[in-house]
Amino acid sequence: MDKTAAQHAMGLWLPKLKTYLGLDTWNIDLELNNRIEAAGECELQNYAYRCAVITVNHDNIQDHTTLFHTLRHELLHILLAQFVQTETMVAECVAGKSLDLINLSFTDSTELAITNIEFLLNRIDLDFSKSLIRMAEGVRND
Ligand SMILES: [Zn+2]
Repeated sequence: MDKTAAQHAMGLWLPKLKTYLGLDTWNIDLELNNRIEAAGECELQNYAYRCAVITVNHDNIQDHTTLFHTLRHELLHILLAQFVQTETMVAECVAGKSLDLINLSFTDSTELAITNIEFLLNRIDLDFSKSLIRMAEGVRND
């Protein structure tokens, strides 16, 4: 996907999705970087100060719908940030193979929780998501 179009669409969606997901108190920076492997990544920089960075690889994304779902997925990581905070605290108390298993369990649990939330949102917010995607596509075609 074109970098400028992706940047424009995400800038349009971010404030609306933050409000929709109850993340208005978070300071979230968006970055585009075609060197990351995944379509998107979320880094919680500071939980106490509610700072996070979402990085999206526009080269791994074909259209606005996929971009929207990638951004929403990464925002859901922020919604579940308390789990990462808990994982960090547990990691300080555990070492070795147990730590690896706990980290794997937290990662798998978080991704499964996000998948379940996405499934729920896909069933209940179709109009919201579609209107935002259409809005970005319209901007792109202007
Ligand atoms: Zn994820």
